[in-house]
Amino acid sequence: MIIVMAANAPQASIDRVVSEIERMGSRAHLSRGQFHTIIGAIGEEGAVDHNHLASLDGVEKVVPIMKPYKLASREFHEDDSVVEVGSGKVPTVRVGGKHAMCIAGPCAVENEKMLWTIARHVRDGGATVLRGGVYKPRTSPYSFQGVGLEALRWMRACGDELGMPICVEVMDTRQVESMEPFVDCFQIGARNMQNFDLLREVGKTTKPVLLKRGLSASVKEWLMSAEYVLSMGNRGVILCERGIKTFEDSIRYSLDITSIPVAKQWTHLPMIVDPSHAAGKRDWVNALALGGMAAGAHGVIVEVHYNPCEAQCDGPQALLPEMFRELMGQLRQIAAVSNKEFAEPAVPVGA
Ligand code: PEP
Ligand code: MN
Repeated sequence: MIIVMAANAPQASIDRVVSEIERMGSRAHLSRGQFHTIIGAIGEEGAVDHNHLASLDGVEKVVPIMKPYKLASREFHEDDSVVEVGSGKVPTVRVGGKHAMCIAGPCAVENEKMLWTIARHVRDGGATVLRGGVYKPRTSPYSFQGVGLEALRWMRACGDELGMPICVEVMDTRQVESMEPFVDCFQIGARNMQNFDLLREVGKTTKPVLLKRGLSASVKEWLMSAEYVLSMGNRGVILCERGIKTFEDSIRYSLDITSIPVAKQWTHLPMIVDPSHAAGKRDWVNALALGGMAAGAHGVIVEVHYNPCEAQCDGPQALLPEMFRELMGQLRQIAAVSNKEFAEPAVPVGA
């Protein structure tokens, strides 16, 4: 349930409500709006006493949240959430509300040289966050599985030098601790969307989490997964629609454009699209990216490679640098008519 505090309720009243919620064995999550503070009481159903909370000083009303996800719901947080990616050496990039951005880079970091070359291409093209997988979820155990932690160090150095926060997939709970000091954003892959232990583990960190939609997950299930992260105290969840399995076999996955307005109605969380993994083929990537942005997404994540033939993973869908540049120009136009600001690279092009 949520406890809506009266406009400008004093901090002492807020603290009292929080301590009462905790005394009843639930957790309190605060959402501060312009006038009202909303407190989410999250725990086992039936654990908190509705009437008792309603009687406390400064409480305007107590409302049950009917949705199975609570902290992710619009009831808990009416305005769009804005998530900040990056801190320390790299500039912060905002996503959500009026803020849109592009994450780009190779599917997998294969070696240091290819990473730097692609990173410069995407930064010069206008990407503000660098992606690159160091652990790869492959269908076959005999395919390239990623370079591992060494590649994460290259990603960090590259991101720092080019002024780009880095977004890297984590596949296993055992990787979270060693990756946390390096990454600016954890990526949870589609195949791990319902790895609840992993969701809880990244939920304990302070880094934002890019949560891909599962291959066969409904929007509601996806938001339940977001709830796992949020319930551990991490507010930085960014949703990512990356295509779902349908009967259509001409493309790899069907990018579910419908999920964008649906999710945006149900949740305050920012949402981006991944046209690369949906299309599976570079010819179709830009059209899907533009469609996603036009439908209201807060940006895109795309794979780019200067020589896709030699890529060890997802070469056929990698955009060539010139295709990426063209896409960025078009995305900016859509952002402008959608009243969104598109994040610009912090370090000058070519540096
Ligand atoms: C990826 O981003 O490289 C990836 C494996 O994505 P997904 O989990 O969406 O398949
Ligand atoms: Mn990939």
